[in-house]
Amino acid sequence: MSIKQNLESIKASIPENVTLVAVSKTKPESDLMEAYNAGQRIFGENKIQEMVDKHASLPKDISWHMIGHVQRNKVKYMAPFVSLIHGVDSFKLLKEINKEAEKESRVIDCLIQIKIAEEDSKFGMAKTDAITMLQSEAFKQLQNVKITGVMGMATFTDDEVQVTAEFNRLKSVFDELKTINNHLEIISMGMSGDYELAINCGSNMIRVGSSIFGERNY
Ligand SMILES: *Cc1c(COP(=O)(O)O)cnc(C)c1O
Repeated sequence: MSIKQNLESIKASIPENVTLVAVSKTKPESDLMEAYNAGQRIFGENKIQEMVDKHASLPKDISWHMIGHVQRNKVKYMAPFVSLIHGVDSFKLLKEINKEAEKESRVIDCLIQIKIAEEDSKFGMAKTDAITMLQSEAFKQLQNVKITGVMGMATFTDDEVQVTAEFNRLKSVFDELKTINNHLEIISMGMSGDYELAINCGSNMIRVGSSIFGERNY
């Protein structure tokens, strides 16, 4: 199937309120253009340099989402254009994003990444740390970032019971954080292998790569 056909079949299978982020990391610009010509406007990348390069040469009405782990010293390169940063996992990082957004006279939307997987390797904040951050005076001083939701990654496993439990956790963390900060709207969870499950658990933003563009060759 072509990229266009893949996109069309995914879009036909998800509810209208669910935003599809086309994860284009490692893929050539020609693949992104194929998706673009099929109507896709939101692309997700996990490396800042790669996103900066693609942003420079592709159409300017694309919304670029940074979905990977963010190094603080590279925030400045994406600050002029990034439309959503999914992986905010510390106050230090948020402060850096705020500083660079201020230089660009922008407000950058961010998601708090919550650790939901049992594996130790996954990044993310504990729920209690996220609550403490959202309630802190230091957080309220930041004028150039806006937390618009949460993001999470489930354990990489075929065990649907476990993945469902982890997705349900993220939904309940979202519900609790929303009582503190009512700007929260987005629950970014679900990838090629588990987005249907994620949507059933309350996801309204899915990050899908290989089901659109095919397997990645690293
Ligand atoms: C690569 C990646 C995805 C997409 O993965 P697929 O399995 O190819 O859909 C989603 N989220 C994050 C954070 C990723 O790094």
